[in-house]
Amino acid sequence: MKVLIIDGYIDQPSCLGVPPFLAPLPRYIYGSIKKNKPSWAIDYRTIDQIRKELKKNYQNETPIGFNALRNKNIVILITGVSVPGKYLGGTPLRFSDLKHISNFFSESFKIICGPSTVFGIGEEGGKPSIPIERIDEKIWNLIIKGDPEIVLSILLQKNEDIFYNYQKICQNPDFKDILHLKRKNMEEILEFSVIGAELISLHPNFSENDGGNLTCEIETFRGCPRYLNGGCLFCVEPKKGPTIHRKINSIVKEIISLYKFGVRHFRIGNQTDFYAIHHGIYENKRYPKPNPEIIEELLSKIRNSCPEIRTLHIDNVNALNFALYPKEAEKITRSIIKYCTDGNIAAIGIESVDPKVISMNNLKASADEIMEAISIINRYGKTIGKNGNPAFLPGLNFIMGLQGETEASLNLNYQFLKKILRENYWIRRINLRKFLIPSGFNPKFYKKIKNHLNKFSSKYYKWKNTIRNDIDHPMLKKIYPIGGELKNVYAEKNDGNGTLLRQPGTYPITCFVPRKLDLMQYYNLIVVGHGFRSLNCLKAPIKFINLTQRELEMIDGIGKKRAKAILFKRPLNKKEWLEILPLEIWEEMTKIQPSLLSLIEKKG
Ligand code: SF4
Repeated sequence: MKVLIIDGYIDQPSCLGVPPFLAPLPRYIYGSIKKNKPSWAIDYRTIDQIRKELKKNYQNETPIGFNALRNKNIVILITGVSVPGKYLGGTPLRFSDLKHISNFFSESFKIICGPSTVFGIGEEGGKPSIPIERIDEKIWNLIIKGDPEIVLSILLQKNEDIFYNYQKICQNPDFKDILHLKRKNMEEILEFSVIGAELISLHPNFSENDGGNLTCEIETFRGCPRYLNGGCLFCVEPKKGPTIHRKINSIVKEIISLYKFGVRHFRIGNQTDFYAIHHGIYENKRYPKPNPEIIEELLSKIRNSCPEIRTLHIDNVNALNFALYPKEAEKITRSIIKYCTDGNIAAIGIESVDPKVISMNNLKASADEIMEAISIINRYGKTIGKNGNPAFLPGLNFIMGLQGETEASLNLNYQFLKKILRENYWIRRINLRKFLIPSGFNPKFYKKIKNHLNKFSSKYYKWKNTIRNDIDHPMLKKIYPIGGELKNVYAEKNDGNGTLLRQPGTYPITCFVPRKLDLMQYYNLIVVGHGFRSLNCLKAPIKFINLTQRELEMIDGIGKKRAKAILFKRPLNKKEWLEILPLEIWEEMTKIQPSLLSLIEKKG
């Protein structure tokens, strides 16, 4: 039997699987099939790879391996984007892809699974996600709404003929129940996760030489500790009930398995709050007590077992840990800095600091409580590390369009960000997202939210631009000053005559280099300018004498005219430079090429 797993990517509030990230689910599915049917041939493609193949097919250019790709007995499509964004590394599955896929694999038994089978396929913030029920059930043979690795395991144990006789079997009501089965505990996935590590060798972002930039997302627990008081009203996590956690040794075993196959970049991101792993009791009824010892154990075991790990980052942090249990939160922060790699980010969901919006949506924390979290993380995390990034900084998420939002709410959020800048706290990124309405959302609310989002559309536009100008830009200048060096930045995409690069890891900064560089290789870069959310860089080391006009123009403060003058006059000493540049820009230039000053002073 030949099986193809198509990864339509996952982006949920507590899990990311858009390349270079690989979510746990495709690996679990691979492991589940391999464990039950070791002789089956399992192939894996991302949705971007499939689109390319289909395009060639439509253009009548028979792609290499076309028949081998099409000739699959079973096709399993994973879909899971409910928090859509813009991604450099790929484009998640859109509803329109389904038709092309089902046509292409017309002869195969087709299964669709993943979070979107429950929450719908999200395509754009502010618009409802598309319910999976809209697909043609005659073409798609099975829709798995439970945990796919568990459901598939049960189906495979029954009989592989199930995939051919499903029509008959479907009439049995038990069968329908199987499709909704969930894990009973987290240990059920251990074997699948360890065996499924093998999938990474099929991923386009993986390289046998150095692991490429493939970053494996790791799961630690399921659910939200705020389920007890209902959680944030827009969020699906609290509906999962009490949190269930993986054993530390199980998480480590999975990471070791991935590491042995060659993975070098990891993000422990598949949970609602990293600080709540194996949390304690609810000493405060708003949130349970964090468990610093267990987090120290987890991180130290990973580092000791995988000495050549290049990236170890986390994701998702609830500010309440810091406000309610500052000692424990501080301890965990110190462990993160000790064991994780630099450039780490605690993504904190603020959503809004307006007290009215907080109360109407039962949000987690107040402005002061969030500021407390930002201050503690800054106390330990600002130091610049070996790869050129601060060790550990907060990243902030806001949601536009929540109930109770007014123009004053937007202003309060803006003032909150201004205060962060004034207090000289560093934050690595601000995520401003429109509320994505999940499928099945109460139609009365849906209409209200839709009207509000439409009405506020121009206000959001202005507000976002003000934040990008007044907060993001000056913040980037503080964190990544001119002349700073970023090490091991991976060339991901050519863009016109330039290249877009990022370091592997959580929310890495995008770097633009105005030169076509060979892709899938690491470079060291020097920061020469700032966008709103990205950096302009040149390949290190820099020698002004070798730069093109375009590269000179990229440097903050130079521009077209001065770039031309530099190329024309070829200044050899400080005096000549100062005939072209003001002193402060000249000083910046000496940071970009430190040898410049001494060398030219001697000649001058
Ligand atoms: S704190 Fe709120 S947003 Fe975060 S997981 Fe819990 S309910 Fe969802």
